[in-house]
Amino acid sequence: NREIHLASRPQGWPTADNFRLVETEVPTPGPGQLVVRNQLMSVDPYMRGRMDDVKSYVPPFALDAPLDGGALGEVVAGEADGIAPGDTVLHGLGWREYALVDARGARRVDPDLAPVSAYLGVLGMTGLTAYAGLLDVAAMKPGETVFVSGAAGAVGSMVGQIAKLKGAGRVVGSAGSAAKVERLRVLGFDAAFDYHDGPVRDSLRAAAPDGIDVYFDNVGGEHLEAAIGAMRLHGRAAICGMIAQYNETEPPAAPRNLALVIGKRLTLRGFLVGDHGHLRDRFVQEVAGWLREGKLSYDETVVDGIARAPEAFLGLLRGENLGKMLVRL
Ligand code: NDP
Repeated sequence: NREIHLASRPQGWPTADNFRLVETEVPTPGPGQLVVRNQLMSVDPYMRGRMDDVKSYVPPFALDAPLDGGALGEVVAGEADGIAPGDTVLHGLGWREYALVDARGARRVDPDLAPVSAYLGVLGMTGLTAYAGLLDVAAMKPGETVFVSGAAGAVGSMVGQIAKLKGAGRVVGSAGSAAKVERLRVLGFDAAFDYHDGPVRDSLRAAAPDGIDVYFDNVGGEHLEAAIGAMRLHGRAAICGMIAQYNETEPPAAPRNLALVIGKRLTLRGFLVGDHGHLRDRFVQEVAGWLREGKLSYDETVVDGIARAPEAFLGLLRGENLGKMLVRL
């Protein structure tokens, strides 16, 4: 069994040296436990925050211990809570080839219903984040103009497509390369731009000349400032993530225009997907339906092998992924 440990805490951008590949024994299950041979694991931006020793909504990773996070695999030993060897389960102990999982922390998934990778992305945590943030937190209504940053990523690509499926009038996305922008057009975004091409404010004004009603923020900083500037009266922002500042050591320079929130009566609302579990059944049903009907597409970028998991994570922070970044073990 090989697993990835946190060797040291990064200052600013993490590097390969912050991780260590460690060999351990394959665990044996006790009562109520399962041994899962992990097939896929997720790398996610929030893991960067967990590498710092600070108090947050999830505890920090411990030094010299395996990292953890969303993963999926086949039960190879143990039997509990109606789960048995041969079942495919979703659980929270990624970053290792074999996981010793408390059966109560595992959920069986149906490999015949969708490719299993979907349960870590489009039908999983990132899909629900998009669905809950757009429809519940920002309460998007038909006819509205929606802007989403990080639009070619796992969450962002779902936000844009769900907005269109729910009747948005105009959907605008920003992403980090020309190829990603091209992909957004294929996914049905009405307009898209590469945020490297000029000030976000100018690109957004060109893409949404009449302003925006909803902003789904994955990036923060200059993007958030531009969105506040572009918002119409009573605009709403779902504040999902601020990846532009996860590796910064100085406080962000933007947004500088927060006072506009008053006159425009804006709502800026942060949220965590974990608080929206009550939407899961509705979300899975609706999204699975769109997938079956071919109305929704999703991209995945898959890196092979536990040894390359750190590389996958670093690549995610640098924008090397289209859609959901996954590691196949
Ligand atoms: P993505 O698949 O979107 O991957 C991250 C992307 O961020 C990269 O592909 C890169 O794309 C972009 N990025 C990196 N640095 C910058 C930068 N400086 N400026 C602009 N874009 C940048 O990840 P997820 O879909 O998993 O997550 C998206 C966001 O949602 C993150 O902020 C994450 O923290 C947040 N999140 C929040 C949750 C919640 O409950 N609130 C739950 C899940 C995710 P590019 O090439 O376009 O730069």
